[in-house]
Amino acid sequence: MQNRILIIDDDQDVRELLRKFLQEAGYSVSTAENGETGIEHAVAEHPGLILLDINMPGMNGLEVCRKLRSDPKNVFSIIMITASEGNEVEGLESGADDYIVKPFQKEVLLARIRRGIETAERRLDAHVDPLTNVFNRRTFNTFLAQEEERASRYGRQLALILADIDHFKAVNDTYGHDVGDKVLIEMARVLRKSCRRSDLLARLGGEEFAILLPEANAEAAIICAEKARQQIEQHIFPQDMHLTASFGVAELRKNDQEGMVKRADVAMYAAKESGRNKVMVEKPEGLEDHPVSLLVIDDDESIRELIRVKMMYRGYEVHLAESGDAAFRILQKYDVNLVLIDQEMPGRDGMATYLAIKDEWPQLPAIMVTAHGSKHLIKSFLVSGGRDFIEKPIVDFESFDFRVKRVLAELRKEQEAEEKIRAAKVRDESRKVKDVFLASMSHELRTPLAHIIGFTQRLQKGDCSDSEKQRVFLDKIEAAAQSLNRIVEEILDVTLIESNIQCDIEQVSIQDAWRAVAAKVAVNIQAKALMLDISLPPHLSKVKADPQKIVEVFEKITRNSIKFTDHGVISVRAQEMPDEMIVSVRDTGCGIPHEKISRLFEPFEKLDHETGNKSGTGLGLYICRRLIELMGGRIWVSSEEGHGATFFIALKLERKS
Ligand code: GH3
Ligand code: MG
Ligand code: MG
Repeated sequence: MQNRILIIDDDQDVRELLRKFLQEAGYSVSTAENGETGIEHAVAEHPGLILLDINMPGMNGLEVCRKLRSDPKNVFSIIMITASEGNEVEGLESGADDYIVKPFQKEVLLARIRRGIETAERRLDAHVDPLTNVFNRRTFNTFLAQEEERASRYGRQLALILADIDHFKAVNDTYGHDVGDKVLIEMARVLRKSCRRSDLLARLGGEEFAILLPEANAEAAIICAEKARQQIEQHIFPQDMHLTASFGVAELRKNDQEGMVKRADVAMYAAKESGRNKVMVEKPEGLEDHPVSLLVIDDDESIRELIRVKMMYRGYEVHLAESGDAAFRILQKYDVNLVLIDQEMPGRDGMATYLAIKDEWPQLPAIMVTAHGSKHLIKSFLVSGGRDFIEKPIVDFESFDFRVKRVLAELRKEQEAEEKIRAAKVRDESRKVKDVFLASMSHELRTPLAHIIGFTQRLQKGDCSDSEKQRVFLDKIEAAAQSLNRIVEEILDVTLIESNIQCDIEQVSIQDAWRAVAAKVAVNIQAKALMLDISLPPHLSKVKADPQKIVEVFEKITRNSIKFTDHGVISVRAQEMPDEMIVSVRDTGCGIPHEKISRLFEPFEKLDHETGNKSGTGLGLYICRRLIELMGGRIWVSSEEGHGATFFIALKLERKS
């Protein structure tokens, strides 16, 4: 308030005299009888001007002046009142704008007050952002430099929050710039309410705000930012709009190369990237890898918040749930690495919650947190797969952090061991496949080779008088050569599988893959007068697959269908599910005997076993299954004998963030 004047003087007569006189002149006046209360009034009331007596018991006027001037938020003018000439230099050096000697002439005093208030107004204009009335970037920078210097010198704490409104551009685009401006004004108000009086709130530009928190570390800043985030989320902005903001938090570090602003900015962008409406804190020093994501399930809000702040501070990403149901919703939506479950909860208790979660996510490690866990409870939790338990109240977050890390390390080791066993099993299986394959190969190779040699010799001998017969021989030779070619390709595939190939998983368009397949099998489709009907929806998501190998699989399945279908259509369809895409290939062929279906994707399962009229190694579908599994997908078949068969291939979708 620019026309408010604060009088700090230990002499009651002077205070009352001045008050009366200034009130008559139209100012609103408050008074303080010593330096300490004077400072409190000044910080709380933001007067336009302070009349400050130099000689006071306790803290004298010069000290009060220095103290007030150390905070750039204090833009008011200060006029020193001295009983004698001689201290004015000291007064001005301590930061006063003017001085006046007792006894003073009223008119002179009024003129000086007017000038002082003008100075304060100009100072305020230079310091604040005219739209939102919070400090501008320049003041922020001045204050930041000063506070960093002070905090480093005296070993004090200092933290910073950067806040950026989410999708603010859309506000301007939808309602216009004026409404956008009103939103910014409201936003500044909400942020102001979330911080302490000693914090500095500034608008750095656009829709980005900063809060500098002296005497606070990142933990305190997380609490402040989280409070602001929630208040913004609940606030109703102009036009009944609901908005959110993303926050980045950092604290002052020793020997910091990067700078606190930069680190808070990185955290803020991480908050944007991971879905907005979030508080993220800078990574702790030395922590480089991807943040571990925890889910805390506890009905007690203060415990949830405590764990969140303490663990965020240690570099974790933390989700909170007040009940088992809320936990399920979070687990369905986010990738969580570890769950912390409170045992004592109303309704479904911790143990029951754990069992329900385990049903759905059997691999997810869980730690139980309990105030009075009986031996029996803890034992049954551990026996049913729980990883560890921690006693409430949690006081030592260092060891809490350590135990979480230990559980994750154990889990990693177990997974590595499982992976090794799986790889060994695959190698074993592949080796057996190869052995059987080589053993049966002689037969497979002999037939087409005999054909080639036999028919070629007959051609050479001129054992085919008419050109029609010649054509038949040549067709047989070609068919035999094709079959040899396929066998050789499968030998290569088997060798690759045995050497435990890795797939190059990329984002693959199903449409592109099928376009390639259609080109490859066109001749064969025509030769049997079949139809290949590929009808895929136009806006399918991409799937996770190896772009070459998926074409190979689709091609094998299609060739398989062509082989067993003599009339009709082979239809290809795709359907998008929440996290996978299901591609189906349906034919109108002879179908698969019921007893064969369960072993169809095993090596050497040939459909033509009984009839013997179709060539092939019996490895095609086995190879398909292996490749699809390597891509993280599934393959299965359904068929009714005599009514065609449908192959289904499920592939993972690119996970949406
Ligand atoms: P994000 O969630 O990624 O932060 O998206 P965003 O739309 O909030 O961010 P972006 O930086 O793309 O857009 C910021 C917008 O803020 C663009 C600009 O028109 C608007 N803006 C900047 N300053 C002002 C202002 O003083 N008043 C108004 N009304 N709009 C402003
Ligand atoms: Mg924004
Ligand atoms: Mg922006």
